[in-house]
This record gives sequence, structure tokens and C-alpha cells, in this order.
Amino acid sequence: MKILSKISFIFLIGLICLTQLTLSQKCLEYLRPVYRYETKVIDCPMVSTNDKRQSIPTSNDLMFIINFKCLTNDKITCGKVENVLITAGKFITATLNLKTAITVDAQFLNYCLTYGDCDQEKVILGSTRPARMIPIQDTDGKVRLYPQALLKQLELPEHPQYGPSDIITSFNSDTNFWFEGDPLYTLKDNSDMLYVVVHELIHGLGFTTAWRDYFNIQAITPVPGYFSTDTKGQFFEFGFDKNLVLLPSGKSLTSIADELNKFPIKLDITNNEFISSFLKSPQFPIAKNLYKNAVTHGTIGFLITPNLQPNTPITQDDVILLETSLNPFLRGSSLAHVDAQTYFDSSDFLMMYSYPKISLGQMMFNVGSTNTTGPIGPKLRLLLGTLGYEVKKDYIPPVKLSNLQSNNEIQASKTSIPSNTIKPQPSADTNNIEKNDSSLVNFNFLLSIICILLSFTYSIYSKY
Ligand SMILES: [Zn+2]
Repeated sequence: MKILSKISFIFLIGLICLTQLTLSQKCLEYLRPVYRYETKVIDCPMVSTNDKRQSIPTSNDLMFIINFKCLTNDKITCGKVENVLITAGKFITATLNLKTAITVDAQFLNYCLTYGDCDQEKVILGSTRPARMIPIQDTDGKVRLYPQALLKQLELPEHPQYGPSDIITSFNSDTNFWFEGDPLYTLKDNSDMLYVVVHELIHGLGFTTAWRDYFNIQAITPVPGYFSTDTKGQFFEFGFDKNLVLLPSGKSLTSIADELNKFPIKLDITNNEFISSFLKSPQFPIAKNLYKNAVTHGTIGFLITPNLQPNTPITQDDVILLETSLNPFLRGSSLAHVDAQTYFDSSDFLMMYSYPKISLGQMMFNVGSTNTTGPIGPKLRLLLGTLGYEVKKDYIPPVKLSNLQSNNEIQASKTSIPSNTIKPQPSADTNNIEKNDSSLVNFNFLLSIICILLSFTYSIYSKY
């Protein structure tokens, strides 16, 4: 009997604080990563790199600093989870030359007992979010929101003060994970935690778009917000979005954001009033048109070819295609991942929205990237380099992972392995709307600063 189960990787950006870029900034932070809006107001004054108020840990040996809390009594599994977190960091630093260490706060806890999330059909494996999204004036003059982990690598002379951690993540102990060393045939029931963690950390590093259908009106926009009550609101992109283009025209999504920003966003209106006025505006057809692209395969990509003139016709070679096959648009999956049809059988498989239900080691073996690029394929390398990370020229596998061919124990029991674990297939299953994707835009948040409350859920699915 086939059981349809769902596995969601949740990525919550949460509270995005659009503060004024002044010396008296305040920001909001989450207290917990999982769809619970517990927040606190904190100061985040501008600091310079020479300012002693901001200290960034540096270590050549360990560029991912993992602060791990295991909240279960199963100490053996606790140890396995911590090892996976460390290993995932090693795979990323085998590709990226991080200039400052990235701190990850990680927890392993029972979502059912802790959050009352006991749905066994739609199991949340984990949730991840950047500790803070920070508004920065970009090289083209636009203000975009950058995750703290990425901003640190840009080594800006002056920036809003960073929080103590860069990425906050938790994993659900109320589900079955597969760990390196477990029999491979058990992967049909269990999810490879290393695959999950590496995928999630890449989101935390900045693989995240602001373009969404925020109001369920079949129109996509960047995130609406504003800096202060003195200024009008606008749609804000993320750093990732600067490089998004339509195919084949090469038209940038930033130019579309510019068009959308002719729409006046008032600060003291409700969501319904916002929707009502936006639907009547001349900007709505623009957002509606882009929605059509976002549900049509092969029409939106992340530009990885540098120095192309604006509006130059482009091909698939110039971009890493984003997921635009899902119709209707699936928040957290559409656009926020690479195109599964194109990349599931390539070394750029990692950021598909669909979990391929085999281990990371087996996936790399199948596509031949075990010793060439590892989990981060050639196009994803270019994407991360475009975002601002320094990409290493060579890749040396930090850890040897098992696969069917390399593991004698597994080889011996191969007859018991279902054939569908051999070859990854993209899942066409899209009927699981992620449970935590509630986008709340709070236009009436009365503090010394005004922030918008959002949650972003990036899900990948597994069909059994
Ligand atoms: Zn994802």
C-alpha cells in the first residue's frame, strides 16, 4: 500500500524589520524558529568593522559554529544529529571560502510535544531561518533585504549591528531520520538528515526570494513594507532577487519591481483595504502577468552569466532555472527552488523543492558529483558566487558518504532494496500546502519603528 506522506522543510524568515538606516536603529528578532511569533525588540545600531561593539568570530578551522541543544532523552540520536550539523557545515565550507564564521543555533526537539504539531501525514522535518534580515542600499541604489550570514561575507565597512547567530534552525525528533551508516534501503521510510540540513543551510545563506503571492490573488510581488511612518511603503526585494530575469527576454524582475513601486502603499490600512486598492490599480496586471510566468516552466531564472547587457535575450545556459512548473503557485516551493524537471538528474539537484528520498551520498553518486562538486553543483556554485560568497576553485570531499556501490553491507542486501530508491525522480505531488505559510503583514505595528511580520516557508516534499 502506498502511503502519501509529506515532508516539509520549513524556512521561516519571520520578522523582517525595515528600520531606518540611522544610528538609533531597533530591530526585532525571533525567539524560536518555528512558526511561533515570539519576538523581542532589540537595538541594532550602525557599526563599523573597526567598532568594538561588533565582534565577529573567526576561525580558519571551523567556519560553521554550531550551538546545538538536544531536547530529547535519546542521547545516541542527539549525537548523530550534532554530527550531521557539523558535517553539513563541512560540505558547505568545502565549496565556499567563508570570510567570517557563520553561527548556527540548532535544536532537536519533539514538535508534537513542544508545538502541538502532531500531524503524521504532513510531517515537518525541520525549520530554518536567517537570524536577521537586514536592509541594505545595493549597488544599483535599491534597498534590498540581506540575510545576516551573507552580509557578513561582504565585509561592509558599516552595517546595522549583527545578532549573535546567523541562522536559526530546529529539527523534529518526532519523525524518523536516516543517518550515515544506517542501511540504505531504510531511506524509503526515513529522510536523510544530511540532505535536509545542507539544503536548509543553503536557504539560510541567502537562497531566498521575496517574490510571492502574498495575498492569494494570483499576482506576485516583492514583500511590501516601509521604513518609518514618515515615508511611504514600497515593495522590497531580497538580495537574491537582484539577479532574477525572465526568459527569454532577459528582462530583470527588479525592473518589474520598479513598475510595481508606482503603487502607493499606505501605512495605516488593513490587509483587505490593501488588497482592494491593489486589485484596482494599474500595477495589478503587472503582478498578475508575472504570476503567469511563475507558473510556466522555464520562464524565470537566476542570472549566472556576468556582464550581460540589460534586456539581452538569454538562454538556459545563462541562468539557473527556478521552479516555475507548479500551478497554482506554491508559496515556499515556487521560485524559491531550482527547477526540478531540469536539475533532478544533474549535479545541481540540491535545491529542488522535492526531496528525492534517497541519501545525499547516493544522489551525488548517481549524478557523478561525488568528487567533482559534491552537493553544491556548478550552477549553484555560480549562484552563490553571484550572491557574494567566495567560491573555492577546487572541491575536496570532506567526508566519504556511503552509496549502494561503495557499501558492502548494503550491496549484500541489495535484493531487498526497492528499485525506486536507485533513481531519483522529481515529485509531481503538489497538493500539500505548507501548513506554516501564514503571511501576516502588520501595517499597524506601533513601536518606535515599524516592521512587517511575515513568515516564509520553504518546503520540499517527498512522495512515498
Ligand atoms: Zn527548500
